[in-house]
Amino acid sequence: MRLDGVAERDGWWCWLCGGAIDPHAPRDSAVRGTVDHLVPRSRGGGNELANLRLAHKRCNVRRGSHLPELLWPREWPMLMTVHLWTAMARLAPRPGTAEVVALAPLSDLADEAATWVVERAEEFVPGGWESWCAADPAGPVAVWLRRPAGAAPGSTGRPKIVVPG
Ligand SMILES: [Zn+2]
Repeated sequence: MRLDGVAERDGWWCWLCGGAIDPHAPRDSAVRGTVDHLVPRSRGGGNELANLRLAHKRCNVRRGSHLPELLWPREWPMLMTVHLWTAMARLAPRPGTAEVVALAPLSDLADEAATWVVERAEEFVPGGWESWCAADPAGPVAVWLRRPAGAAPGSTGRPKIVVPG
């Protein structure tokens, strides 16, 4: 089964939200694993393994046929977050260029976010990303993201701008 083939390669993780997927979740569960297409089929993406990722059913449905959008975990009380897809569209082709992608109220949360954002970025544009945190004496902790100067330029493809509502 394709689901198991992708899981064997990537592990049981949702590539959209980063959460764990229970391989034994019931078929009608919103958090069961589904096979998602990196480039949607409606946009010319194929069924080859390189174009397949695992995603929760709910994350796959929410994404629909749009190009990938990275959603920050809702439970994180960030002071500011950028739209990650467009940040990566700017950063991927320009190794060595960095941007602040979030402002966290606490350094623990910033550290967690830095790890998360590198993992997510790697899923979308493989080939190396790095993130670090910089505390402002006044309080907020900035989370930076960049493709290292030595990395090959990457591309996110053409981002689709979705206006909510
Ligand atoms: Zn998910």
